[in-house]
Amino acid sequence: MSDLYAVFGNPVAHSKSPQIHAAFAAQLGERVRYEAREAETDGFEAAWQRFVGEGGRGANVTLPFKQQAATLADRLSERAALAAAVNTLIPGDGELLGDNTDGVGLLHDLQRLGAPLAGARIAVLGAGGAVRGVLGPLLAVAPQRLVIANRTAAKAHELAALFKAHGAIEGGGFEALGEGFDLVINATSASLAGELPPLPERLIAEEGVAYDMMYGAEPTVFMQWADARGARCHDGLGMLVGQAAESWFQWRGSRPDPEPVLARLRAELW
Ligand code: NDP
Repeated sequence: MSDLYAVFGNPVAHSKSPQIHAAFAAQLGERVRYEAREAETDGFEAAWQRFVGEGGRGANVTLPFKQQAATLADRLSERAALAAAVNTLIPGDGELLGDNTDGVGLLHDLQRLGAPLAGARIAVLGAGGAVRGVLGPLLAVAPQRLVIANRTAAKAHELAALFKAHGAIEGGGFEALGEGFDLVINATSASLAGELPPLPERLIAEEGVAYDMMYGAEPTVFMQWADARGARCHDGLGMLVGQAAESWFQWRGSRPDPEPVLARLRAELW
């Protein structure tokens, strides 16, 4: 009998999580069934209860249910509480734990890529759900400075105020960004629409790294912009596989190796 897991979202058919977890199961020789389940936007809790009734052992949660999952959980991990969002539900001894593995996924990918972190000047573009999840882990590497820039500047100010106790962080609009960052992370959804936020010409330092959380067959507009300015560019597929590996570890205690799964996903899916 396989252990049952799932990802809940709406829409969720596009999710690559089932392929990723199937590859982890094959790699580790563990019997796991992992399904994509679409819940009605007002039916997440009912869908979760049905899943538990079927013997579900844990789930990932994606848009638009990350906040609802945080409310549903009896207890939040420190990193999920900081993010105010849950992407991993872990049923335990009589209680449901909510965790957030997005930040660890990003950090592991940045480390794998040799991106500048400790002592670096880091800019984060965007102030949405994904950014909330990654600010804690990014501040934990002790960058020299971390600047969040967002189209709606007030949201960047709010996040900077919220995370101030965890390290050197500033927030504002794109016009206040400044120049010469060693690492620039695009966490806006502008790439989805093929758009580029208004960025200063010298935003990225010489030999700096540009990372777009979005991923796809082609480099995003942001990656193309950064590449034309000499930056090393990466997309967010490694973050996706990294957060999945950390969720797997939290559920099962075994550690998949994300690297071959990432290579296969990139080769097979596009
Ligand atoms: P949200 O909807 O929560 O936030 C979207 C952000 O993008 C906001 O800050 C918004 O600014 C900004 N934005 C949207 N359109 C534009 C635009 N045209 N110009 C400038 N800024 C814009 O999304 P998420 O935080 O959940 O996701 C952000 C991105 O990260 C998505 O591309 C998503 O696919 C990706 N992601 C990748 C993951 C991975 O594992 N690789 C994991 C999670 C997310 P404003 O506040 O002004 O509206």
